[in-house]
Order: sequence, then C-alpha cells, then structure tokens
Amino acid sequence: MEKISFLDQVNRNFDKAAAFTKHDPTLLEQIKACNSVYRMSFPLRRDDGTIEVIHAWRAEHSQHKMPTKGGIRFSVDVNEDEVMALAALMSYKCAIVNVPFGGAKGGVAIDRKRYSPRELERITRRYTFELVKKNFIGPGVDVPAPDFGTGPQEMAWIADTYTSLQRNELDGLGCVTGKPVHLGGIRGRKEATGLGVYYGIREACASPDDMRLIGLTPGLEGKRVVIQGFGNVGYHAAKFLAEGGASIIAIAEVDGAIFLPTGLPVEKVAEHRLEKGTIVGFPASNTLAASESALELECDILVPAALENTITMDNVARIKARIVAEAANGPTSAEASEHLFRRGVLVIPDSFLNAGGVTVSYFEWLKNLSHVRFGRMEKRFEERAFQRVLQVMETATAKKLGDDICRAMVHGADEQDLVYSGLEETMLDAYQETRAIQKRLDGQADLRAAALVGAIDKIALCYFEMGIFP
Ligand code: NAD
Repeated sequence: MEKISFLDQVNRNFDKAAAFTKHDPTLLEQIKACNSVYRMSFPLRRDDGTIEVIHAWRAEHSQHKMPTKGGIRFSVDVNEDEVMALAALMSYKCAIVNVPFGGAKGGVAIDRKRYSPRELERITRRYTFELVKKNFIGPGVDVPAPDFGTGPQEMAWIADTYTSLQRNELDGLGCVTGKPVHLGGIRGRKEATGLGVYYGIREACASPDDMRLIGLTPGLEGKRVVIQGFGNVGYHAAKFLAEGGASIIAIAEVDGAIFLPTGLPVEKVAEHRLEKGTIVGFPASNTLAASESALELECDILVPAALENTITMDNVARIKARIVAEAANGPTSAEASEHLFRRGVLVIPDSFLNAGGVTVSYFEWLKNLSHVRFGRMEKRFEERAFQRVLQVMETATAKKLGDDICRAMVHGADEQDLVYSGLEETMLDAYQETRAIQKRLDGQADLRAAALVGAIDKIALCYFEMGIFP
C-alpha cells in the first residue's frame, strides 16, 4: 500500500475541504503553503565529555495573524515534513477555535530518555538561542508551547533563556506558554488539552440526533472508552471523561496495554505508573502484550492520544469504536478517515478536539501581556456582591441557607475557574460552528472537512481584509 507523508495527509485533507469553498486557487495555494522553515544543527557536549550533533526545526506556517503559535516536540522521529504538517494543523486549529494566532511548530530530533536533565537543559537553551538569532521566537513573533516529549520544565528554560537575551523586553515572558505557574504560567494549562478533549467529546455526545445516527444513546454516562497514550493529553482526557461518567475500559502505552471491562480507576493507574514506571501489571487488569490491539477493542469511543498515523488502512477495518476522538495530532491517515466516514463512524478531528492547549496558551499569553492574574481585580468584589444578594434572599424568605450552598453562591471566580469557563465556551462554540457548517454542506463533508472549511474561510477573510486578494 502506498505510504503518503504526514504533510501530504494534511494537504490532502486541506484540498478536500477547499473543494467545498469558492475561493480563488491562488489564495488557497497561499493559505496551504508553509511560509518559513528554520532548520538548525548544533553541537551538544554530553555529560561524559563527548560531542553529539543535534538536529532541530521550527516551521511558521502562516502569519495571517501574529504571533504564530505551536508546540515544541522532542522525539526521535521528528523531521521537517512532520514539523511543517503540524504547523499547518496549528494554523487551521487556531482559526477553528477563534484564537487569533498563526500556526507554527518546532521539533528536536532526540529521544529524551537518552539524556540527563542537564543535557536536556543545554539542548533546550541552545535551541532557544538559535530561535532568537533568527527571530523565530518572541511574544509578538512566534510563541512555542509544550508538545510530545516536552513540558513546563522545558518552557521555563526557554523563558529564562529568552528573557536573559532580551533583557529590556517588558512582555518577554509572553515568548512561550505552558510555563510553570510561578514563572508566568497559568492555572489550568497543564490539563487544558485533555480537558478540551473532554468538553469536545461531551458536546458531540450531547446531541440525541447525532448519537442516533451512529447507534449510540446521548450523553457520556456509561460510554466505554479506550485511551491510547497515557501522557499529558491522554491522562487528563481519561481523568475528565471518567469524572464525566464514561468508563475507561483500556489504556495503551508503548510497552503494553491494560484492559478492565468494568472500568479502570484512572488516578490509581497513574499512581501505579509513577511507582513502577509502567501501566502494565496494574492489579486486576488484563494485559494486552501488543499495545496496538487495544485500538481494536469493542468500545464506544476510541481516543488516540499518542502520535500521528495510528489508524491507517492497515488497521482501520478492525476499528470497532463508533466515535474516534482525535486527541493526538494526525492520528488517523486521510484515507483511513474517509473509510471511517463511509462506515458511519464519527471522527472528531484533531484540528478541533485538541485545541484546548492552544486556547489556554492564548489565555496565558494574554496574562503575560497584561501582567495581572485573571480574577485578581474582581474576585472579592464579586463575592461581596453575591453576599449582598444572599442576605436579601435570606431576609425576604426569612430562611437561613446551609453553609455549603452559601459558600458555592458567594464564590467569586479565580484564575482556574475563568480558564475552565473560557475553555468550555471556546470548545462548545467551535463544535456548534463546525456542526452548522457540516449541516450546510448537506452531510457531504465529514466533521474534519467542515472544520477546515471554517478555518479556510476565516484565514481567507484576513487576506481579503489586508487587500492582498480581491
Ligand atoms: P506526552 O509526551 O506527554 O505523552 C505521549 C504518551 O504517548 C507517552 O506516555 C508515550 O509513552 C505514549 N506513546 C508513544 N507512542 C505510543 C504508542 N505507539 N502506543 C501507545 N502509547 C504511546 O505527549 P502529549 O503532550 O500528551 O501529546 C500527545 C499528542 O497530543 C501528540 O500528538 C501531541 O502533538 C498532541 N497535542 C498535545 C498538546 C499538549 O498540550 N501537550 C496539545 C495539542 C496536541
């Protein structure tokens, strides 16, 4: 079977969606093109004194809105094609969820397990230095974030390196998001992508008509879920889905998968992994030696949350889930996705579903530019106003409300409340917007194409307004 690259997959999805629009072909070519790619190589002195050459990239797909935005991935499989594909996905993703950024992505071709923390620090700081040198980073230029293989620690090193080099830049901390909270990060960023995945799936499952079409009952309650990849996104998606009433019947990781038809306790599995270094052997669960076989289990919702090209023409016929919820970027090949659509499986696309990370990154960036924590100005003011309403109610009814009710009523929104609320609003709005486009296209397009049609229209509008295309 012909293997097509990840970038070709993304472009194929773009072309399919573009065919539903009436835009000028030159404009479509501009929207699809990756505007700039910086490929770099630099030496790393390892702890034992030997030298190794590190290869890395940063791609900025589209500057129709500034800054550009996208994660940095540490993975041996990273290459230019992948970084460009992920940067393009970022442009479309931001447009779909109405986050005013262009798309970008970075990658460092390393297996982080082979390096000590000090070596990882040197790699991250040198990578940042290279980005500064070529003007590929800055609060108004290009703002990285965590992705596969990176987290708050790397973001802290990036922020520190950038602000040390650009010492008088007032908004310097806005050069990267996903930072630890005490270094300009925001409460709720760590879990944002997984929480967004939960909001997106919950919204999709809420429509009785849509669920009837795929033979499921509305609501999350009791839905059997399989999670592939128990990292940041997979763990948080599993946690929120379980709290929302779904049953996590299997979790797959690189070294094997665990299965429990009555539902796995997500927190306990996470604790087991922390202690033993693997999810395999979790008490009372069955182990599936071949991790990939978890994808083919009988379930309602399959959540691929690891890497791209997980569901391809090689295994798509064996996928039994009624919903494929793409928490990872590009987990389903374009052809496999078309196959699932023809079979009536609902594919909730990555370009929408995992946008929670960039949405909350946007909030973090706004916080860095405004230099004030969300909720700081109004929390106490709101609490006093609620307190007065409560007093009036109690006087009017001559009834004293219970302490728990009073506490819930007078609670003013803090940063995490506002982040969760802003994220929920963003995901629900974007889902309904995408669903409306799909209905307008008379069921001809799957949700992925509908989301991309929305993204293309919004990016095209920027070019019209710039007066570049008539
Ligand atoms: P992560 O590094 O925290 O976790 C990935 C997990 O997947 C790891 O535990 C790894 O062991 C596991 N894994 C790798 N290959 C696997 C395989 N073949 N089978 C099963 N498990 C496997 O990464 P993450 O941040 O959770 O990112 C996961 C996906 O989500 C990536 O595609 C990433 O691009 C996407 N994403 C992440 C964010 C974010 O905010 N972190 C935002 C948007 C999209």
